[in-house]
Amino acid sequence: MRVYSIPMRTRFRGVTRREGVLVEGPAGWGEFSPFAEYGPAECARWLGAAREAAFEGFPAPVRDRVPVNVTIPAVGPERAFEMAKVSGCRTAKVKVAERGRPDAEDMARVEAVRDAMGPGGRVRVDANGGWDVERAVRMIRALDRWELEYAEQPCATLEELGQVRRRVDVPIAADESIRRAEDPLKVRAAGAADIAVLKAQPLGGVREALRVAEACGLPVVVSSAVETSVGLAAGVALAAALPELRFACGLATLALLEGDVVGAPLAPVGGEIAVRRPGVDEEALRRFEVTGEDETGAWRRRAAAAQEHLGGPPVLGVAR
Ligand SMILES: [Mg+2]
Repeated sequence: MRVYSIPMRTRFRGVTRREGVLVEGPAGWGEFSPFAEYGPAECARWLGAAREAAFEGFPAPVRDRVPVNVTIPAVGPERAFEMAKVSGCRTAKVKVAERGRPDAEDMARVEAVRDAMGPGGRVRVDANGGWDVERAVRMIRALDRWELEYAEQPCATLEELGQVRRRVDVPIAADESIRRAEDPLKVRAAGAADIAVLKAQPLGGVREALRVAEACGLPVVVSSAVETSVGLAAGVALAAALPELRFACGLATLALLEGDVVGAPLAPVGGEIAVRRPGVDEEALRRFEVTGEDETGAWRRRAAAAQEHLGGPPVLGVAR
C-alpha cells in the first residue's frame, strides 16, 4: 500500500491536504481515502470500493465519455463569467448561499454564468444546505429567471428539502442528504428530491452505487469525493455504466488538487471525461508519497479497523 498527501488548491470541507492510500491488485489500482472524521463502519464502504477497483475491476461501460460540469465557487460576477467561459463545459454548477453573503451576490453570479453559458448551456445551483425553507423558495424562484436546471441541497434536512420541492418548479437534487446506501431510498420516500447525487467510494464501489441508483429510481448525478485519478476512475466508471445519464456529472474535481498520482489524469476535455482507468505513475506519485511510519501506520490501523467491518480477504494486505 502507498500513502499519498496532496495539497489542495482550494480548501474543501475544511481540508487543506487530500490524503489516502493507493493499493494495486490484479484488476488495477484502487484508492482508499475516507475523510478524517469517518469511523470504521463508514470507512468499510470506502474500503469496499478500493477492493472492487483492485481485485474485481469495474462493470462494462455503456458510454465512452462522461459529460461534466464546471463548478463556479462564490466569486464575483466577472470572475464567474470568465471561469464558465473558459471551462469548455456545457453545464455550470454555481455555488450559492455562502454563509454571511447577501442574496444579491448570488443573483449577480448566476446571471453572469447564464450569460457565459448562453441559452443552450445548463446552469444549476448548489446551496450546500445553506438556506432555510423560506429563503430557499424565494431564491430559487428568483434565480430561475436564468433558467435553472436544478437546485442542489437548498436546505440541510430531508423535511426542509421536501417542503421546498413542493413550492418551487425547479427540480431539487439531494447531495449532503445522501451519505450511505440507504439514504437515497429515504430521500425518495420523503419526496425530498427529484435527483440523487451519488458518489462511488462512500457507497462501497461502482456495483453498490449502481444498485443504489436502481433501487431509489431517481435520475442520478455522479459526483467525486475529490480523489486522485485512481479514485476518480470509479466515479467515471459509475457514470459510464449507468443505463441512463441525463445530467452532467460532478467529476471535474482534479483541478482542486495541486497534482495527481497518474501520468495522464482524468481531466475533462471539451466538457467531457473520456472513460478509462489510468494507472499510478511512479514519478508522479513520488511528489506526493508519504513514507513516514507515523502516517503509514495510522492509515494501516484505519484500514484494519475498516477491514473488520467489511469482512472478506484483506484489501490492503493488512495482517490482523
Ligand atoms: Mg453538492
